[in-house]
Amino acid sequence: MKSFFEKLYQNSRTDFFALAENALNTEQRTFVVTANPEIFMQAEKSDELRVLLLDPDTTLIADGIGIVKGARMLGISVKERIPGVELAEFLLSACNSGKKSVYLFGAKREVLDALCKVCREKYPALSVVGTCDGYVSDKDAVFDQIRALAPDLVLVALGVPQQEQLIYRHLKDFSKGVFVGVGGSFDVLSGTKARAPALFIRLNLEWLYRILKEPSRLKRFYQNNVKFIFRVKKLKKDKKV
Ligand code: UDP
Repeated sequence: MKSFFEKLYQNSRTDFFALAENALNTEQRTFVVTANPEIFMQAEKSDELRVLLLDPDTTLIADGIGIVKGARMLGISVKERIPGVELAEFLLSACNSGKKSVYLFGAKREVLDALCKVCREKYPALSVVGTCDGYVSDKDAVFDQIRALAPDLVLVALGVPQQEQLIYRHLKDFSKGVFVGVGGSFDVLSGTKARAPALFIRLNLEWLYRILKEPSRLKRFYQNNVKFIFRVKKLKKDKKV
């Protein structure tokens, strides 16, 4: 697991945003994984995910505080969280400034419609070249459509790790584009779900807010985050990292 931590982007959020904007403007094909404990835990058991995370073409950023703290426990100094929802919002705004195009894939139809409305109002120079909800049966076929449109930005909101696996399967067919798996970000950016209040975000308790709002997340949280903490502690103790 240490190799996943070592691959994390370590500098500040603003530095990363500048890199991402540069990738957009210079049409550098880029794949960003907004890493949380869930994907690191799953990648320990899945060759496919391990290859995806360790591919030099994949950029890993620490979406969750668990990843930041876990990295620090292993002696890797990751400066701060870079939440996927903030990256998604930044990239939409950068596309607006640069008059660029985006494809939005994932979430429910009504969420996507609300997000398109937000984009029209907030980012008038951004061109939404296509959308597809996340409940279609053949998700690979959607990528044929995306390839034909060649957008500058592709945001995929299908949940971890499905969104990352899908992007990774098709990435090499693209010559440009910034690709990001953004989890539940469309729900938040469309105004359908509220993000945690600022105090929760400041205290790094966004995860707690999400559990309080959706108690069904508790099992998933235990399976991934609680076990993750024990896993990192054990790695540190065994010095097998
Ligand atoms: N989703 C989807 N298709 C699916 C399963 C999920 O489009 O088959 C969407 C779902 O509507 C939500 C997002 O994927 O917008 C996942 O959100 P979640 O909050 O679970 O992601 P997290 O941010 O926790 O990774």
